[in-house]
Amino acid sequence: MLSALRRSVVGQTRAFSTGHISVNGFVGAVGNTPLIYLKTLSEQTGAEIYGKAEFQNPGGSIKDRAAVGVVTDAEERGLIKPGGTVVEGTAGNTGIGLAHVCRNKGYKCVIFMPNSQSQEKIDLLRMLGAEVYPVPAVAYENPANYNHQARDYAKSLDNAIWTDQFDNTANAKAHYVSTGPEIWEQTEGKLDGFICATGTGGTLAGVGKYLKEKSGGKTQVWLADPPGSVLYTYVSSGGKLAERSGSSITEGIGQGRITNNLGTFINDIDGALHIADEKSISMIYQLLDTEGLYVGASTALNVVAAVELAQKLGKGSRVATVLCDGAYRYQSRLFSKKWLQSKGLEAAIPEHLKKYAVL
Ligand code: PMP
Repeated sequence: MLSALRRSVVGQTRAFSTGHISVNGFVGAVGNTPLIYLKTLSEQTGAEIYGKAEFQNPGGSIKDRAAVGVVTDAEERGLIKPGGTVVEGTAGNTGIGLAHVCRNKGYKCVIFMPNSQSQEKIDLLRMLGAEVYPVPAVAYENPANYNHQARDYAKSLDNAIWTDQFDNTANAKAHYVSTGPEIWEQTEGKLDGFICATGTGGTLAGVGKYLKEKSGGKTQVWLADPPGSVLYTYVSSGGKLAERSGSSITEGIGQGRITNNLGTFINDIDGALHIADEKSISMIYQLLDTEGLYVGASTALNVVAAVELAQKLGKGSRVATVLCDGAYRYQSRLFSKKWLQSKGLEAAIPEHLKKYAVL
């Protein structure tokens, strides 16, 4: 077990940690999130399982790091001037991060997102002053896809950038310089496995590359994939890109292609796990019940995957994943009996945990 944790177990550390001071407002408050020891799951598996509490970023998700990364990179390259406009295509969390960054730095923010996303995210973006265009949720190959619309809209404006989170590797770099080093330091340089799902691939590529370099290749880095994504098959078949089919209740993860961000690391991935929605939804309720954590579906999927990876790596292994965001952004779905029934997922929730579905 980690030494800081050992100290806190025997009561030598304070119950509350002291955060740093940000002189740069929102931007300076991103990162430095706690690493949470998932006690019940660790005890059940005989391994040490940790989740990086990315929901504690000031914009509420892991994507705050990417948002800071892509905007800072554009500024450094002189692509945007004061008063300019930031345009992005996003399932929501990157947009929320960008909306915060734009308010903080004085830019206008315009977001194109698939209309399949939760109302909570659309509402929040508008409350943060972003201009939001929900567009039909069509495949990447279709010119009406939200990313292409964002790109074209940015091109039509002066002093505007399309931050292009999927293929702009400033995204993965943000995780290489922040999330990766934080996890390495927090695990005291001993980490047997890291696993997470990917949307843009920024988190997995950035963290994975850093951990591989620091551990001399010893830390295994795995990809977790929801239904409806092609990445599990791609990694486990050694590079076969299948047609996309099926869907998932998870939001923000799963992919139909190899993005530039993921492409920087995909050949170094050690393996992939496919996680069914039944397991993810059940884990949302389990984490609430046993750890007091209120997390979204991609986080739950990551934790299921971390448990499965820990079982593969054996008792005593230390595995980390990321807790991407809180359930607040999806609660009208994830905690609604009606919604769960409509998705055929009610039976996946253990009887004693059904009491949490209060909506
Ligand atoms: N979880 C959630 C809730 C997200 O919004 C995203 C980003 N789309 C991810 C996970 C995946 O992160 P990344 O884009 O770095 O692969």
